Amino acid sequence: MDSARLELRSYRRPFRQPLKTSHGLWSLREGILLRLTDAEGRVGWGEIAPIVEFGTESMGQAIQFCRSLPQITPELIDQIPAELPACRFGLESAWEMLTADKAIEQAAASPYSHLLPAGANALLSWQPLWQQGARTFKWKIGVATLNEELNLLEHLISALPAGARLRLDANGGLSWDAACEWLQVCDRYAVEFLEQPLPPDQLSQMLQLCDRYKTPLALDESVTTVEQLEMCHQQGWQGIFVIKAAIAGSPARLRQLCQTHPLDVVWSSVFETAIARHYILNRLIPSLPASDRAIGFGVKSWFANSVLDQPEFEEIWRSLETVGARG
Ligand SMILES: [Mg+2]
Repeated sequence: MDSARLELRSYRRPFRQPLKTSHGLWSLREGILLRLTDAEGRVGWGEIAPIVEFGTESMGQAIQFCRSLPQITPELIDQIPAELPACRFGLESAWEMLTADKAIEQAAASPYSHLLPAGANALLSWQPLWQQGARTFKWKIGVATLNEELNLLEHLISALPAGARLRLDANGGLSWDAACEWLQVCDRYAVEFLEQPLPPDQLSQMLQLCDRYKTPLALDESVTTVEQLEMCHQQGWQGIFVIKAAIAGSPARLRQLCQTHPLDVVWSSVFETAIARHYILNRLIPSLPASDRAIGFGVKSWFANSVLDQPEFEEIWRSLETVGARG
């Protein structure tokens, strides 16, 4: 068995409330589900969930690329261009799901980090999550004025019970001066880490910030793909790497990198459906060295209940329409 037939279906799901980050407002998650079927009728599921703001291909580019593919083979998957990291993830993970031993799957044991909305809404949102057992929270910053957000941070920190952990994510939206102000405050409150304070082209400045402040820094937009991750690692980044596996490109290469180097990793969701989520949580993460960091998959509250989140992939598939004849 060396090849499989590819079928595509697309999904669209609105966020309960638009996700506000320094990239702007995000109201609709769109993606593509893949089904590979081999000659024996075995099936492998995959998902392409691009985020253009992170430098991935667009939905249109992904659909166009997938439509151009003949029978899927491992050789073809190896030749997917680096500019299509979400396609690479989707097809490679689907191939693995088709061919690998299901018996080795196990659920990742790590606790989740839960995403709070930006601005003052964070003050209302942590409590129901806390009551359900959440202990690590992430708050998006860089969307309102510095003073406003620093003020809200004080409120949030004094409201959170002892035992809560807080991460901040600027999505690359701070200036150097603002990042310094944030980090002074973070150092006082033992914030777990500040994520992507500056844009991806300012790695050397972020390395300087690491030297100046105690609060750990994490790269996210800087390390969207495995190739970028390798580059930042080579350039001396010793802080945290936030890895969104679903847009990182080849999972095999990601595995190899994480097995070769003792990286401080935080796994992070891209608001994927149960299909990519299953692969990441049950196959990818358990195959790698364990990390103490909570994983950023606490995003359930961002969507209404949906068939897209349940574990019967056939049922998800049946609920969707075939990707139309045109891109
Ligand atoms: Mg981030």
